[in-house]
Amino acid sequence: MLAHIVYKSRCRTGTSLRELEALRERFAHNNRAHDITGVLLCDGVYFLQVLEGKRLALEKLYQKIVGDARHDEVTTLLSSPVPRRIFSGLGMHLITTRPGHWVDPGELEPLFQEGIAGSLDDRTHAILRAFTSGRWRERAVPRLQPSASVGEALDQLLFPRVVSYDNEAAVFAFQPIVNPVTRRITAVEALMRGPAGETPHLMMQRLGGQERHRFDFQSKASAFSLARRLGIRWPLSINLLPSSLLAVEDAAEVLLTEARRHGFGPKDFIVEITEEEAISNPTPFLQATDALRVAGIGIAIDDFGAGFAGLSLLASFQPDRLKIDMSLVRNVDRDGPRQAILRAIVDCCVSLGIRLVCEGVETEAELNWLLKHEIHDFQGYLFARPMLAGIPQVCWPTLGSQQPAAMAPVEPTHVHGRDNVKVPNHALVDAAVADPARLRAVRALGWLDTPPEAELDRLTAVAARLTRAPVVFLSLVDELRDFYKAACGLGEPLASRRQLEGRTFCHYALLSDGPLVLEDVAAQDVFRDVPTVQILGVRAYAGVPLVLATGEVVGSFCAVDFEPRRWSQHDITVLSEMAHAVLREIELQALQKQLRLPA
Ligand code: C2E
Ligand code: MN
Ligand code: MN
Repeated sequence: MLAHIVYKSRCRTGTSLRELEALRERFAHNNRAHDITGVLLCDGVYFLQVLEGKRLALEKLYQKIVGDARHDEVTTLLSSPVPRRIFSGLGMHLITTRPGHWVDPGELEPLFQEGIAGSLDDRTHAILRAFTSGRWRERAVPRLQPSASVGEALDQLLFPRVVSYDNEAAVFAFQPIVNPVTRRITAVEALMRGPAGETPHLMMQRLGGQERHRFDFQSKASAFSLARRLGIRWPLSINLLPSSLLAVEDAAEVLLTEARRHGFGPKDFIVEITEEEAISNPTPFLQATDALRVAGIGIAIDDFGAGFAGLSLLASFQPDRLKIDMSLVRNVDRDGPRQAILRAIVDCCVSLGIRLVCEGVETEAELNWLLKHEIHDFQGYLFARPMLAGIPQVCWPTLGSQQPAAMAPVEPTHVHGRDNVKVPNHALVDAAVADPARLRAVRALGWLDTPPEAELDRLTAVAARLTRAPVVFLSLVDELRDFYKAACGLGEPLASRRQLEGRTFCHYALLSDGPLVLEDVAAQDVFRDVPTVQILGVRAYAGVPLVLATGEVVGSFCAVDFEPRRWSQHDITVLSEMAHAVLREIELQALQKQLRLPA
């Protein structure tokens, strides 16, 4: 069985770079003999190592590593079966940085078999990201300042849609899981219902032992079928009892085959298992979860906090997602013990790369408290109730200062710091940049790292003519860089490289409700430190976010100037029209692909 072990540890003082290199040599030699791959990162203070290989060989090696005198505070962050290796080349990569600096995430990219984009949402990558951003050194995390009041609910673009279920063996209701800051649906949960809308509890009660498990398992075919017909593109959450996954031979594979039949790959759905089941029946639970992991299927622990195990469950099993039970969410805004427990859960999950969802959010006060404590994903009546064989309309609460206003720069938000200085809310921007659903949409365009296209270049040239801006470009924002699919007026070496790493104005545009218009970037603390101000001398920026029909923002169509500049309504209209044309082009290309027409 293929597995990953990820740990962090503290370097003993006096370990030189030469010694590290020698260590890597030795590791590499031994690992080749035992078919082990991975990476060792050292940021001058801590080590983080990812080991991948056959489980037994890994465990033996890990025993030795733990006993090594050159480091201490060895902490296992992940130990789990995996479907495949993510690192290329047998042996052990080594990445170090000078003391006081963090490891550059860009150096990791070439080590991955599929590039960093290949598996952005798995836990090993999430832990690597946490390490490269310094998470393991500095425990003081900036927390969001209390947001302004959450105002009245605002209806959004998504319309309720239902499909018929006469031919299905089972019926499901669907409830979205949402990120209210980016206003995106991040997943959709399928909830079983009886023919007359009966609750899952009643449905399961009606059936006897074996029959119940078989029905539970087989019903998922209907969940996938309905989800496909509803056009659900978000990851689908399905609920299963672990025993249901053992009632059928090769259940994980059968499930995956059924999912694929409806267009859902292993990364497009996740199996929720309640904490209660994990504790009360540990053997079937571990058997079932190992099988799911081997198949590459993600696992969520459901109703966390309701089963009395609490954090001790996470000591022995770490899921990909954790859904906090509504009993912990209820009135959290004014309940001390619940707040303390939630803080501990958040801390634990962030450190372990486990994504959190809060269930049963019913009030704006609850939401407000949770948002302030690094929770981004929510499910609850506040946003949408489950809808039988349909996708309900989502109500988006207004988030006061956390939402950038249309046609205006992103409002800076306070972050607790030593002197409480005003800085941009990087946590929100980073979250928007790294949002897996968004990144999937960017990759799905098929435009990254492709040659320029005359049609698109022409749009930037026309826009430059009409706005008289010296530089106009179409940028796609992925995890690590902005890629310029089309551009006019870029200087060298950027014109040839066609990409730029690090923070850019296009990152802020991802969060903007409309065009992001900056007349003088140097006039605002928030934007003065954006690297392009220094590197390229950018003084003014106007960017229209490219929002796909699915709601994902893939990049922006923008103009920059090297002088402060009052962008006119005409300029903004031109850029908006061009962005519109780009979106049309995207739709047409997608259609062409579907129809398999030659381009
Ligand atoms: P769950 O997986 O935790 O699903 C969430 C439950 O909370 C759903 O109840 C949903 O309607 C409800 N809910 C969502 N938001 C709110 C809220 O803001 N306030 C309140 N009070 N409730 C909210 P539902 O549909 O009755 O499902 C109950 C449980 O039945 C589920 O809890 C899940 O554990 C189980 N279940 C559902 N479908 C299946 C299935 O296909 N197989 C198995 N084995 N169990 C299922
Ligand atoms: Mn559930
Ligand atoms: Mn639940």
